[in-house]
Amino acid sequence: MPTAAFDEVLDRLDTAARQARQPRPRLLAVSKFQPATAVAQLAAAGQRAFGENYVQEAAAKREALAGLDLEWHLIGHLQTNKARDAAALFDWVQTVDRIRVVEALARHRPTHLPPLQVLVQVNIDDEASKHGCRPDDVAGLAEAMAGHERLALRGLMVIPTPHADPEQRRPAFRRTRELFEALRRHHPQADTLSMGMSDDCAVAIAEGATMVRIGTALFGARPPKSDADAGMPGSG
Ligand SMILES: *Cc1c(COP(=O)(O)O)cnc(C)c1O
Repeated sequence: MPTAAFDEVLDRLDTAARQARQPRPRLLAVSKFQPATAVAQLAAAGQRAFGENYVQEAAAKREALAGLDLEWHLIGHLQTNKARDAAALFDWVQTVDRIRVVEALARHRPTHLPPLQVLVQVNIDDEASKHGCRPDDVAGLAEAMAGHERLALRGLMVIPTPHADPEQRRPAFRRTRELFEALRRHHPQADTLSMGMSDDCAVAIAEGATMVRIGTALFGARPPKSDADAGMPGSG
């Protein structure tokens, strides 16, 4: 990872934030399929928060980098049978989209760790095929999380339908921002709106993102999926 790419991404976030008259969003460095050495390089340059899509891959990296004070976020789909591992491994889970996962994470969050920081993933485009809860279900999930002291509700996460033109994603970002504002009326501690990736982060920031998830623009194109995860889609 050339640190020039890191500086360039930070510049892009600064510029977009200035234009939007928003504070610069937090940067989550998405390190899926990248080796632990790439994470270590970025950490040495000052980056602390890293996002992973698969529980096993994250566990291996976290162990390899145990000496570093990093913050690990799960951003891949979470199957209920992986919730126990995820609850012990991650600092944040951004992909909570159903009650069963809320209950499993709350039950399995180890007591020696601080509460798990959680985001509700919302399926803003309402596509049957995608993960994330329906917009109408956000309030109920948030209520369920608020009832668990082992969980800390921090906000919303969204992955809009891919479009070649990032401008096409603007309405989805805007609707998510509106949902976020509605959520905050009942849960004022929810301070995180996670939206925007390498190619659309400027639009997401203009629409109020407080955290962006950037992989390719930091690390370059991803290497092929590792053997450990091959053939296990959604194993995170
Ligand atoms: C891979 C991934 C990203 C990063 O995407 P880039 O286009 O490489 O920046 C962000 N969010 C999620 C949920 C991802 O799976």
